[in-house]
Amino acid sequence: MSNEQVRTADHPLQKVAVIVPCYNEEAVIEASYQRTRAALDRLPQPTEIIYINDGSSDQTRSLLDRIAATDPKVKVLHFSRNFGHQPAVTAGINHCDADFAIIMDADMQDPPELIPDLLRKQAEEQANVVYCVRRSRAGESFFKLFTAKAFYRVMNRMSEVHFPLDTGDFRLIDRKVIAAFNRFHERGKYIRGLISWVGFHQVPFYYEREARIAGETKYPIGKMVSFASNAMLYFSKKPLRLATGLGFISVLVGIVLAIWFTLGKIYGFSNAEVGWTSIMTSIIFFGGVQLLTVGVLGQYVGILFDEIKARPEYIIDEQRNFTTAKEQEEMPHEKA
Ligand code: UDP
Ligand code: MG
Repeated sequence: MSNEQVRTADHPLQKVAVIVPCYNEEAVIEASYQRTRAALDRLPQPTEIIYINDGSSDQTRSLLDRIAATDPKVKVLHFSRNFGHQPAVTAGINHCDADFAIIMDADMQDPPELIPDLLRKQAEEQANVVYCVRRSRAGESFFKLFTAKAFYRVMNRMSEVHFPLDTGDFRLIDRKVIAAFNRFHERGKYIRGLISWVGFHQVPFYYEREARIAGETKYPIGKMVSFASNAMLYFSKKPLRLATGLGFISVLVGIVLAIWFTLGKIYGFSNAEVGWTSIMTSIIFFGGVQLLTVGVLGQYVGILFDEIKARPEYIIDEQRNFTTAKEQEEMPHEKA
């Protein structure tokens, strides 16, 4: 891409884009836009905001269209339906031609007032990624805090890649990382994981996560579970290894018991009449182990099934303020 050749790390005119996925966010869009715009207007460099309307069924679409009509520095991608948070962020990155992209929630949990600090941190440390670590999280349930904490710690034990703890998608990435990200072909993207995976110079930035300014979370428990299990399956083969280990232990126990009972029968130290309870217990237990193991295997087969179909990750219905219509159809990696 020509961007990488003409713009260098300390070029004064580096463009900054803010990527904001939105799903049924009518309650926050206007306030969110005003705050983000105000933060960007304080910067000397060219800026833009890329909103991705992830198939909202409320007024999000018309609100975004109205903003884009008055502010040419606001670009909008409307998805044909709800594809999910990660595909929405992916589309934003795929369609970003800026030198720096900052990924943020629409609900202002990630305060846009921090954008200048993120850029300063990037410049000071010559970082390729500045990832934002939550020092505290306001307005979240005990359940969400506990499960999130547990999840990031388990992920780190299971995966070959090290993930920074308590870090969401709120981060600044530079052109090199954007280019690297655009080369990923996998459908089930766990974006924060992939950005850790690409390497380069990544530095933390600590902040206090605020409460949602309005509206409800768009991550109900079902979506949270599928997000977490997807992350695990895409980044770790350990569940398969654990399943194998479980099978191995069962076989060992089986062999030891078989020898014990046979010797018992020959030498008469074991009562050959095994009771109903012990038989039922072992049937249920080993049946469970088998189903669990097959289930784990099935999860990976399911992923293979999805990946092999290679469907597009998202479909764009309409776009606003993008210069070429071509950008709409072609994904960067499809051009290669
Ligand atoms: N989001 C989206 N598609 C979805 C779910 C969420 O684009 O299917 C957006 C949502 O509008 C928000 C961001 O992703 O800007 C994070 O969602 P949310 O704030 O509801 O999650 P939480 O912060 O509660 O984990
Ligand atoms: Mg949020």
